[in-house]
Amino acid sequence: MLVSAEEMLKKAKAGKYAVGQFNINNLEWTKSILLTAEELKSPVILGVSEGAGKYMCGYKTVAQMVSAMIEDLNITVPVALHLDHGSYEGAKACIEAGFSSIMFDGSHYPIEENVEKTKELVGICKEKGISIEAEVGSIGGEEDGVVGAGECADPKECKMVADLGVTMLAAGIGNIHGKYPDNWAGLSFETLDAIQQLTGDMPLVLHGGTGIPEDMIKKAISLGVSKINVNTECQLSFAEATRKYIEAGKDLEGKGFDPRKLLAPGAEAIKATVKEKMELFGSVGKA
Ligand SMILES: [Zn+2]
Repeated sequence: MLVSAEEMLKKAKAGKYAVGQFNINNLEWTKSILLTAEELKSPVILGVSEGAGKYMCGYKTVAQMVSAMIEDLNITVPVALHLDHGSYEGAKACIEAGFSSIMFDGSHYPIEENVEKTKELVGICKEKGISIEAEVGSIGGEEDGVVGAGECADPKECKMVADLGVTMLAAGIGNIHGKYPDNWAGLSFETLDAIQQLTGDMPLVLHGGTGIPEDMIKKAISLGVSKINVNTECQLSFAEATRKYIEAGKDLEGKGFDPRKLLAPGAEAIKATVKEKMELFGSVGKA
């Protein structure tokens, strides 16, 4: 059964560790992440972007696949199914489809409009027992070859949004999506600390977890980050393992073209990446 992310994140904040959000793209992705979480007795959040939701046929297909998989694989650790960077409409559609957690990314709206829309969605989520993540200060990333620096959120705006009753808050602290450029300035711990001072118990979310040095991850967790999003890193691991298999000509040996064989190295690579992250985040054995 899917659960809201509220309890697992409250525990993580209190216990000074973070729960990983791993984004899914298909059945193999989902299976690899769920099996690893179960093996390591770690709570887990499965992230679905609107694009990935569309790719997997729609939110209903995703919600039912994940729910059924939890049952068929006898997964006992807490699993939340979370919409990543949802639009207002997307958030409503996922609530309808059976997601147990949503993110409403209103960071591109003026703060007043972000507050107004977040507030409405908080009301709906509270009623249904669904967790909700809001974002303040947009998180940069590569778009059409231009790398954004990753802006820092205004701590006062963070406090304003945290007070709306959201479950968790994503705040830009210099982090970006995708691979980090060589000249990246690093996370702004000053901003993170200022945000935590104002938001107190609110679990904070770190997006763009791919390529942030381990010591920065640990410091961020010590300053109140309780959820870390990992997406690109699993994609890179999957692609690398699959490429190796093909380049070694293994798909041409015997029945090596069988998708169950062809996709196996990639699935194993996802497992290894997820395991590495859960160990780093400190969520192993916390389920
Ligand atoms: Zn993100």
